[in-house]
Amino acid sequence: MNLNNIAIFCGSSNGANESYVKAANDMGKFLALTNRKLIYGGAKVGCMGELANASLTYHGHVIGVIPQKLVDVEIAHEDINELHTVADMHERKAKMAELADGFIALPGGAGTLEEWFEVFTWLQLGYHKKPCGFLNINGFYDPLISMLENTVKEGFMKKSYLDLIIIDPNPKSLIEKMEAFEMNSISKW
Ligand code: AMP
Repeated sequence: MNLNNIAIFCGSSNGANESYVKAANDMGKFLALTNRKLIYGGAKVGCMGELANASLTYHGHVIGVIPQKLVDVEIAHEDINELHTVADMHERKAKMAELADGFIALPGGAGTLEEWFEVFTWLQLGYHKKPCGFLNINGFYDPLISMLENTVKEGFMKKSYLDLIIIDPNPKSLIEKMEAFEMNSISKW
């Protein structure tokens, strides 16, 4: 499967370690150089802004989706190719999910996690068959992966679902793995 349109969830902050901003830049550049469209939250702040600017610098196509309430707070990025201003968070996530062929979380906060978990749980439930990955920079997602392993160990999630999550520290190899992804017929219920 070719992933031409990739939704990226990432922090509206820069994070405490410079490797996070670098990761956002590397990902934005990689998407542009491989002619992939970036779909993201439409903000100019933090890693989100870095990601979009890196893509634009390398002539990538950037689509932002931002709720009206956040246009001023997160500073809507006016220089991207398409900026969709939507009514609320639900519309934002629905629009991003509709436009994307796959989903990646870079390091981020509660917003990033919430967005990623929603699309991952939709995959589990069979609402879509699109790959979900983590760009695991600086081992940022290791504690979360341990938590998910604990949910398997304690009988709340099938191991086959944990195995669906694609984890890699490098944009190129992460996206290659995501392109090889095929949702099999595992059924949650
Ligand atoms: P954060 O990771 O908390 O810095 O947030 C990253 C992005 O996620 C920001 O654009 C937030 O507006 C967004 N966000 C926060 N909460 C939600 C939510 N419930 N649904 C969708 N996006 C959210």
